[in-house]
Amino acid sequence: MMAQYIEIKAANPDCLLFYRMGDFYELFFEDASVAARALGIALTKRGKHLGADIPMAGVPVVSADDYLARLIGLGHRVAVCEQVEDPAEAKKRGSKSVVRRDVVRLVTPGTITEETLLEPGRPNHLMALARVGGAYAIAYADLSTGAFTVQESEADRLLADIRAVDPAEIVISDALFHEEAMRPLVAALGKLARPEPAALFDSATAESRLCAFYEVSTLAGFGAFGRAELAAGAGLLAYLTRTQFAARPALARPAKVAAGEAMLIDPATRASLELTRSVAGRREGSLLAAVDRTVTGVGSRLLGARIARPLTDPSAIGERLDSVGFLVGEPGLVRALRAVLKGLPDAERALSRLALGRGGPRDLGSILGFLGASRETAALLAAAAPPAELGQAARGLADLPDALEQELGSLLAESPPLLKRDGGFVAMGAIPALDEARSLRDESRRVIAGLQVSYAEETGIRSLKIKHNNVLGYFIEVAEGQAGALNGTEEARRRFFHRQTMANCMRFSTDELAGLEGRIAEAAADALRLELAAFDRLSALVVEAAPALREAAGAAAVIDVSAALADLAISEDWTRPDVDDGLSFRIEGGRHPVVEAALKAAHGSFVANDCDLSPPSRGAKGGAIWLVTGPNMGGKSTFLRQNAIIAVLAQAGAFVPAASARIGVVDRLFSRVGASDDLAEGRSTFMVEMVETAAILNQAGPRSLVILDEIGRGTSTYDGLSIAFASVEHLHEVNRCRALFATHFHEMTALSARLSRLSNATMRVKEWEGDVVFLHEVRAGTADRSYGIQVAKLAGLPARVVDRARHVLRELEKTGEGERRTAFIDDLPLFSAAVRREAEAPAAPAGPPPALAALQALDLDALSPREALDALYRLKAMTAEDGKAG
Ligand code: ATP
Repeated sequence: MMAQYIEIKAANPDCLLFYRMGDFYELFFEDASVAARALGIALTKRGKHLGADIPMAGVPVVSADDYLARLIGLGHRVAVCEQVEDPAEAKKRGSKSVVRRDVVRLVTPGTITEETLLEPGRPNHLMALARVGGAYAIAYADLSTGAFTVQESEADRLLADIRAVDPAEIVISDALFHEEAMRPLVAALGKLARPEPAALFDSATAESRLCAFYEVSTLAGFGAFGRAELAAGAGLLAYLTRTQFAARPALARPAKVAAGEAMLIDPATRASLELTRSVAGRREGSLLAAVDRTVTGVGSRLLGARIARPLTDPSAIGERLDSVGFLVGEPGLVRALRAVLKGLPDAERALSRLALGRGGPRDLGSILGFLGASRETAALLAAAAPPAELGQAARGLADLPDALEQELGSLLAESPPLLKRDGGFVAMGAIPALDEARSLRDESRRVIAGLQVSYAEETGIRSLKIKHNNVLGYFIEVAEGQAGALNGTEEARRRFFHRQTMANCMRFSTDELAGLEGRIAEAAADALRLELAAFDRLSALVVEAAPALREAAGAAAVIDVSAALADLAISEDWTRPDVDDGLSFRIEGGRHPVVEAALKAAHGSFVANDCDLSPPSRGAKGGAIWLVTGPNMGGKSTFLRQNAIIAVLAQAGAFVPAASARIGVVDRLFSRVGASDDLAEGRSTFMVEMVETAAILNQAGPRSLVILDEIGRGTSTYDGLSIAFASVEHLHEVNRCRALFATHFHEMTALSARLSRLSNATMRVKEWEGDVVFLHEVRAGTADRSYGIQVAKLAGLPARVVDRARHVLRELEKTGEGERRTAFIDDLPLFSAAVRREAEAPAAPAGPPPALAALQALDLDALSPREALDALYRLKAMTAEDGKAG
């Protein structure tokens, strides 16, 4: 067996090998240690290899999904190795022969389909990246739903296109993967990306491989694909074959997405706006989480995709907005639709599992439930005369095959079990032969129950019981002292034959009992065979109906998303944005949905603000720029982000948190908000900021919307101010885009005199008894100060530091610029001396405070644990005293 194990493991060196042994998957050697550590399961040993113990760890097959989920989550890949022949067959080859085993599937982050491993509202994309000639393309498929998309890309937007899809795994030809030019991309993708043999992506054979998969002679009917797209598509299929082996996923035909169809959101912008994930990488805290009121998995996935890739075609956007608008006017219909959709099972995922041979009776139940809920949804909508997109969705739902629903409805039992292996999922009365086998089985069980009474009478043992276990099957059990009635005489022994002696009882059987047991086993096997045959037939019917089911699932998603957005618009008072192909950007009473929700939860209220970046006059050569100054904590970042988010929501086809919004389609969105560093890549905070600013200044065009927050603050004041100055001029003169630029360099507000499309805006504050009150209102004009010291005080900076800072600021303001300022700083007395003088406080004790001195005096290595604890108590008491002393 070990020889077999080692051979299989050698063929799958980069995977943890789940080696099937009976009811367990066992892991050996290094795999066992890795899994034991990762899963917190026991590490044991079994036998020896080259004289050393073999480490072993195992997980029960029934709960393997949970363990798989955790391993995949930690970035492992798992090869599942099953027994591929009946142990009885192996025995025929000799008593010592090993059951044949083989890897039947590689479980990787991008290829999982199990319900327990997937999040309902999140797609799970596997992506392939290819380059042919100079052209790049990506192909991505969600194996759990069958969706399959290909898209052309370009070197400078590749990462943006990849991030818009947010794949769970991305395969790249090894030649490309190791290319020098690809290094930054591969580094940015990190664990997500893996190299695969270049042959998988071979462009010469790509088309024929795709044709073979779809069993067609030409792809002409699917659309016109470029060579890079074909190579990426074929690479993806080849990788699927490598991981799924014989199972054939039910992939939809590849759909081609045009690159310009979606708003281009560069990766830094996507991350900083937290569109579908928060900065911490989670869904909570993201824009999607704040706006997602869908009630189905398909709906939630569609909403996520729409927010991740807002559209650029005003008429396509208008169609989506029509759906939401129609439903906003029909609140009763929204409630009714949402009530039905709530019970709509995830047919896409059930279908995919059934097609891959990994489905169970519950998946059939899901399809049946889906068919019923679809019919109801279609009927609700059909009665309401909905606009184009919704009307088409309603028709997609109504087009489902009735025969499938009837067949599933008549055969499936109510609430079928998860697994098919134990049967019990076909309804009574559905298959006569099955009913017969079941009643034979049940009847025999009744006869056995009757036998217990007659044996008890016959032997005079009232406590005689007939029991069952998996080893002996049915047996008679009596207390040891009473066994004489069953084995005391020759005659009794002929009738009751001995099976087992336990500590205080004995077990017997009879010919009658053995005969009945045989009949039960036979009837049960017959029943199971019939049920499994029914399962296969139903499963095949479902897979046959895949295209219609998939279309209906897509239609249900559209309806769910529209109803969810309508529900949100009604309850939160959002409005329909006006999206056209002009260059306006005029928002009245805009709000930030995530900040507003957070404030609401804390019983605060959000102050709505206007923003107008439309070209100021008819002949203006470009959009307007607002230079936003204001105090720290005044709400600048929130204001900047909310306008970007409103653009995203509007172009995703949603209503927006504003009193009104008119937006000329934004083709590229850039936002540099907040600081981050990328130390792993060897880039400091300032370097990251400059790289991102460079990307914006190099790429933004007249249709872009640019949000820049505090450019230049990570370096010396004059360097920073100069960079900020030059960047704004470039945006105004060269990029000519609509832009919001927040800064603490108040000197920049003077630019508005020179740049015709630049206006100053500021966040209002009130000063009150030396403190500052933030009003969060955006007004035309400039801020005169940053109130940084007041904010620092609010943040709890020590009072001495705040006082000292106030003093330094006052003095600095008096000195003005230039040499006088430098001289002033040189002359500033040292902190402690100055504080002493200013506060006229008694001299601080020389040397460190007592607690610190005591801590420094401790020799940690010389302390026993008990002494260390005592010392800790002592130090704590001393710090309390220090505090009291001042
Ligand atoms: P800094 O310059 O320090 O980065 P900022 O001006 O960018 O600060 P924000 O981070 O946008 O300030 O906002 C600070 C806090 O003020 C937010 O967390 C939020 O609680 C509150 N806030 C911002 N805008 C509003 C608003 N329009 N209405 C109510 N509260 C707001």
